[in-house]
Amino acid sequence: MPTTVKGVIARAEQQPAELVDIVIPDPGPHDVIVDIEACGVCHTDLAYRDGGINDEFPFLLGHEAAGRVAEIGEAVTHVAVGDYVVLNWRAVCGECRACRKGVPQYCFATHNASRAMTLTDGTELTPALGIGAFAEKTLVHEGQCTQVSEEAPAEVAGLLGCGVMAGIGAAVNTGQVQRGESVAVIGLGGVGCAAIAGAALAGATTIIGLDVDEKKLAAAAELGATHTLATTGMGPEEVAAAVQELTGGFGADVVIDAVGIPQTYETAFYARDLAGRVVLVGVPRPGVELTLPLLDVFGRGGSLKSSWYGDCLPERDFPYLTDLYLQGRLPLERFVTGRTDLAGVNTALDSLHDGETLRTVAVIA
Ligand SMILES: [Zn+2]
Ligand SMILES: [Zn+2]
Repeated sequence: MPTTVKGVIARAEQQPAELVDIVIPDPGPHDVIVDIEACGVCHTDLAYRDGGINDEFPFLLGHEAAGRVAEIGEAVTHVAVGDYVVLNWRAVCGECRACRKGVPQYCFATHNASRAMTLTDGTELTPALGIGAFAEKTLVHEGQCTQVSEEAPAEVAGLLGCGVMAGIGAAVNTGQVQRGESVAVIGLGGVGCAAIAGAALAGATTIIGLDVDEKKLAAAAELGATHTLATTGMGPEEVAAAVQELTGGFGADVVIDAVGIPQTYETAFYARDLAGRVVLVGVPRPGVELTLPLLDVFGRGGSLKSSWYGDCLPERDFPYLTDLYLQGRLPLERFVTGRTDLAGVNTALDSLHDGETLRTVAVIA
């Protein structure tokens, strides 16, 4: 029997998100219905709401969530009813050319639910990142569910489903930060602060947090930054020089751009040591262009990498990061700086603009 529950939708571009009744169909083959317990408020939801992703309205927002498997469809073997899971948007297919090459983190055909959730009038909803978790229940593919320790609260564990994983993974997976290396992170929102935590986890000994906002610098210091630098009014060359000064005059081994605009990318490019790595994890806006001297791209060597979802593999990464949190070695709880409910999601999306919090989490059950 289809079930009617409450969910937060974006009906049309630039309109406030609304809490409405949505219909969850019976799960199809390999589909799973999850009772959502908590879902973080991410910039990507804001981008969906405001028409910055695509125009497949109405969207069912929310994608950074943890909950419990309530019902399973035919052929589901990966999870069972009652399992405590973190949702992900990288349910790798195992069959595309990336999966076959042994690099499933680049999977080109990730799985989503086989059936559509709808409004009560039958209008199909587009779930944000194939999840749609600002809702009492959602429908996903079984591969979108990763079981983690029951002991981690949903508001904390759910954060691994998107932004925090993107940041930690930018350092650990994409940047391949090694013990004793130096790392600089530009932009200290949720993703950038998670990159700081990831660099600390990997054993970096110099970790430099860069932002224009003093509060964010303080948050980064609590998460493992050994140095912080307010970059207000500084151009790329000055910031690069300051990073060099903190790294023996050379620049950082890894510089992570968690903003994604030409100025921050240029800063990252010049703030790294020769043969260092630049990791772009901040999502650029469409149409933005970058100009760099090609001779410098060649002459400085190293690598320029992009990090989608922190190059994570949910089945590999979510359980161990949850365990590190439970062991007190990864302070994920510090990322939860505000709580709301489904009715408060639209206000929380609006407040993402002012940059005061790392993560507001909608606590649902
Ligand atoms: Zn694949
Ligand atoms: Zn997200």
